[in-house]
Amino acid sequence: MKIVTRFAPSPTGALHVGAARTAIFNWLFSASLGGDFLLRIEDTDRARSEEKFERQIIESLKWLGLEWQGEIVRQSERLADYGRLAERLIDEDKAYRCYVTAEELGRRREEAREKGEVFRYRREWSQLGAAPGKPYAVRLSVLPGEKISVEDLVRGGIVFDSSEIEDFVILKADGFPTYNFAAAVDDAQMDISHVIRGDDHIINAPRQILIAEALDFSKPKLAHVPMILGADGKKLSKRHGAESVTEYRLRGYLPEAVLNYLVRLGWSFGDQEIFTTQELIEKFSLKGIGKSPSVFDPQKFLWLNGKYLRDLPEESISEKIGPLITQKGLPRPSSERLRKIVVQMRERSETLNAIVDQSLYFFTDDFEYDEKAAEKFLVERNGEIFMLLAEELSRVEDFSHDNIHGGFERVMQRTGLGLGKIAQPARVALTGSTKSPGIFDVVEILGKEIVVLRLARAIDFISSRNA
Ligand code: GLU
Repeated sequence: MKIVTRFAPSPTGALHVGAARTAIFNWLFSASLGGDFLLRIEDTDRARSEEKFERQIIESLKWLGLEWQGEIVRQSERLADYGRLAERLIDEDKAYRCYVTAEELGRRREEAREKGEVFRYRREWSQLGAAPGKPYAVRLSVLPGEKISVEDLVRGGIVFDSSEIEDFVILKADGFPTYNFAAAVDDAQMDISHVIRGDDHIINAPRQILIAEALDFSKPKLAHVPMILGADGKKLSKRHGAESVTEYRLRGYLPEAVLNYLVRLGWSFGDQEIFTTQELIEKFSLKGIGKSPSVFDPQKFLWLNGKYLRDLPEESISEKIGPLITQKGLPRPSSERLRKIVVQMRERSETLNAIVDQSLYFFTDDFEYDEKAAEKFLVERNGEIFMLLAEELSRVEDFSHDNIHGGFERVMQRTGLGLGKIAQPARVALTGSTKSPGIFDVVEILGKEIVVLRLARAIDFISSRNA
């Protein structure tokens, strides 16, 4: 049997991390078995579907490296097929037209509620208000008292009782299919062999099976994956720091790290945490999917991203952060300078954006002094040190790490102070804060001219404060 999986997002929002995980599992499953992975856009909810969301989802899938085969299938373009198949079911007496209006159904639902009964649609109502030309929905006839068995590849065997399922709508009055009808029809017509999706869809499985059987269509094998929860055990949402894939991209996460983090939510291979994509393809199997929900941990996600960042070659980090710098309206530094900044900053940053945000003083003179740092270090007695440092450093011809070190040594000799007493105030003068890479590295990267100017600016700051 050829393995064919699909990802079937509804374009009603950006690609959320939970949906992205579903896409990753389907993609990996087919890639690991040499099958195909298809993309189907389930855009039959006309009120909530938007093209911009479809674009965002596609962009996120591409960014994650999840390539699909063939053309994208859009359900909104297949209405004729669904209509034709619904008619066929009516002809075969497996479905029927239902003229009951939404208001009427609402009234009956209310009646049942008042009597404390479970509401269930009854076939004998279906002709209420029937007349030629009147709008109708199409409902599938569900025979009561039958067992519907699902052999779920994650959860094992589950048996549903058809008496619990009413004659449900497959085609709405506006000619659009319901989710279950379109999904069952498409899974068969796209030759889908395996459906991997969140277990919130398990209740749809018996309905989709009934539709496939009524049509004499093939049924895919099903694998329902436990949900991702927040640390509080509740359904994952924004509250837990879980965002869309787009959001993580904009925050400076790397696609490889996002892929790796999401795949490990619910799937494991021993204790291994870090996987290359190639390894994932080799090692992925449904056996590795656990039976209990996984917990989304934003801290671990950030940590993992930092780890990937540190393993990336310097040039590719530079390439990725160049645009982030210019987006802030700052001039892009020369590639040599950018490389040096990256070498220093990636050790202390977990995301691409953090590298840029923490190294703004390398790109612009326009930064504020941290208030506490200024209070402590931009004080009268250090004005003298800045003066001497500017003098010694401007004398350095070849502005290398070692020669800069020499300049600091001479200031230490002239003042009798230890390096710490000189380096820390200098750090505040040059970067605005007490945290930065090693002072000689900072001085080297900034260059002589900027260093001397910033020392002068700190001296001015001190005297204006005194005045
Ligand atoms: N459009 C459905 C969703 O986004 C797809 C469910 C399925 O995979 O069958 O949840």
